[in-house]
Amino acid sequence: MTIDLRSDTVTKPTKGMLNAMMSAEVGDDVFKEDPTVNALEERLANMFGKEKALFFPSGSMANQTAIKLHTQPGEQVICDKYAHIYNYEAGGAAFNSGVSCHLIDGERGMFNAQQVIQAINPDAFYYSQTSLVEVENTTNKGGGACWDFEELKKIRTVCDTHDLGYHLDGARLWNALIAKNETPKQYGQIFDTISVCLSKGLGCPIGSVLIGDESIMKKSIHLRKVFGGNMRQVGYLAAAGLYALDHNMDRLAEDHKKAKDIGQALFDLSIIKVVEPIETNIVIFELESHVDEAEFLQQLTDKNIHIISMGSNKLRMVTHLDYTDQMHERLLDVLNEF
Ligand SMILES: *Cc1c(COP(=O)(O)O)cnc(C)c1O
Repeated sequence: MTIDLRSDTVTKPTKGMLNAMMSAEVGDDVFKEDPTVNALEERLANMFGKEKALFFPSGSMANQTAIKLHTQPGEQVICDKYAHIYNYEAGGAAFNSGVSCHLIDGERGMFNAQQVIQAINPDAFYYSQTSLVEVENTTNKGGGACWDFEELKKIRTVCDTHDLGYHLDGARLWNALIAKNETPKQYGQIFDTISVCLSKGLGCPIGSVLIGDESIMKKSIHLRKVFGGNMRQVGYLAAAGLYALDHNMDRLAEDHKKAKDIGQALFDLSIIKVVEPIETNIVIFELESHVDEAEFLQQLTDKNIHIISMGSNKLRMVTHLDYTDQMHERLLDVLNEF
């Protein structure tokens, strides 16, 4: 039995999902003639109470498009120092949009409205113009932490006052919605643009969607083309998304419960210094400084358990759809033996 907790992207489509994919009705999406893509986009737009949604091959491309929609070259984006758009999108914000990031020194990838106000550049000719605030929910590098919705609303007010765009990287927004019992419409009401991922918690082989009102989304399809993201008969992939929205959403609570169990098992081990708070499906923990990380990882690998290093003796496990009850029992047994 191989236990792969490196990421929630390692899942493979289930039989049910594959059946839905194989029986999808398709057409050329460049002509907007793929009925399944159209249905997915319409469904997500409605879910969030927005006018428009656009299917993307990746979350990075959806985020990069959003940044370009909100900014002009030379401008500045406010985000956390842990932000995916800053750390893990290959410098795309600078490359694609010519913008710099004003990094906030937040807590587990999150910050507050006061910090946003402080990060806005004054209106003087020698400053870069601040044009966008970007937040991530849940936070990836922050260990799956969920934002306080009230704080997100306060930041909306700051954006209104200073005429800033407001983008949500919701790669794992589904996990936050389930963990905090929130609704997509709440998020649709305060953000200008939202990207969501279908291939993380929801188990699709591919796919992200960018959502917003017509006024801001008007150029999104043009930018997706500029970024090389045209697609044709991808209803086969959109069908996986529709299937996942129907079948794989509520079960995220199971992933969260398993992550908490793992956290408890780790907490009881003397070789572990810190287990970061666990709110969703990500477990980040730090080994005691005398413990050799490579050796610890090897001991797990020998037992066919795979997790990843985050650097500086920190490690990460992510629970997901393909991490079964049986695997969970086995993992807890292995941890208890350490
Ligand atoms: C995974 C992820 C993305 C997008 O990743 P892709 O691999 O480009 O789909 C964006 N933001 C966050 C927070 C993520 O975890």
